[in-house]
Amino acid sequence: MSMLGQVTIVGVGLIGGSLARALKAAGQAERIVGAGRSEQSLVRARQLGVVDAYDTDIGAAVRGADVVVVCVPLGAMRAVFEALRPAVGPDTVITDAGSAKGSVVSDALAVFGEIPPGLVPGHPIAGTERSGVDASFAELFRERRVILTPLPQTRRDAVETAAAMWRDTGAEVVEMSVDHHDEILAATSHLPHMLAYGLVDTLSRWEGAGEIFEFAAGGFRDFTRIASSDPVMWRDICIANRGALLYALQRYRDDLDALIGMVARGDAERIETVFRDAKSTRDRFVQRLGSGEPSGE
Ligand code: NAP
Repeated sequence: MSMLGQVTIVGVGLIGGSLARALKAAGQAERIVGAGRSEQSLVRARQLGVVDAYDTDIGAAVRGADVVVVCVPLGAMRAVFEALRPAVGPDTVITDAGSAKGSVVSDALAVFGEIPPGLVPGHPIAGTERSGVDASFAELFRERRVILTPLPQTRRDAVETAAAMWRDTGAEVVEMSVDHHDEILAATSHLPHMLAYGLVDTLSRWEGAGEIFEFAAGGFRDFTRIASSDPVMWRDICIANRGALLYALQRYRDDLDALIGMVARGDAERIETVFRDAKSTRDRFVQRLGSGEPSGE
């Protein structure tokens, strides 16, 4: 358990709001200050008791914070770093929740001119397809993983502070390199989101689309649930991690081409082998997770 003084959360939406709620529930922060873009969202966060105070001026909200957690879409990271730069001290721990890490590190370099020693890039592997503070809940990170990708310049005590904060939410914290994170997440999260969005888009433009969706059932709903995620957030992830995502998409396209060939040839044996292998891989994955299906990312 870690006792923090002020934690400032920039972007009190699903992730920032859930973090604030979890820290409050754990009693592990003296004061949680919200910051962000629209006053309306921050007023709502205050009304819900998610934050103790808020400020639309990010610099003012950050002043005096022990830890600053940036939970905005990746495309807004750089502007937020610009806004908080004059207000953070050498001891401030700056961490984030962005779904890609290379772009966050580039943004920090561009703004600060060097990696701030208090910067601990992070990514909670938890979420839902919903957005905004109203969708936030304290248990979101419980028994989920949070990946931290500290850099050689990052102070070890800053990593420990960020890790302890996430552990207070019930999460397990793991560390890996920025590049490794971006490759893994491109495969396990970013690629499936592209497929879900792409499939719904394709079918929506199919002639007779109305009838297609009328007869779509649970399987279609399960497969496409993540296409209800926020388009701006996913646009930003797609652009921010495009190198690793392109590699994953191309590998998938190659395998899809191979599958198309098997279907075209009526190669029942090979189709069944692909399906059997996929089923046993997924069964093992679900078993490892325990009773619950994974949420969000
Ligand atoms: P969200 O619910 O939409 O919340 C985003 C928050 O950022 C909102 O409070 C929004 O304010 C604020 N914001 C947007 N643009 C801003 C800007 N230019 N300046 C300042 N604040 C701004 O999104 P989320 O799901 O919490 O995602 C936040 C971050 O977590 C993203 O980087 C995402 O990649 C990452 N993440 C998401 C998930 C997931 O499953 N959702 C999981 C892991 C990580 P307004 O209310 O004014 O719009």
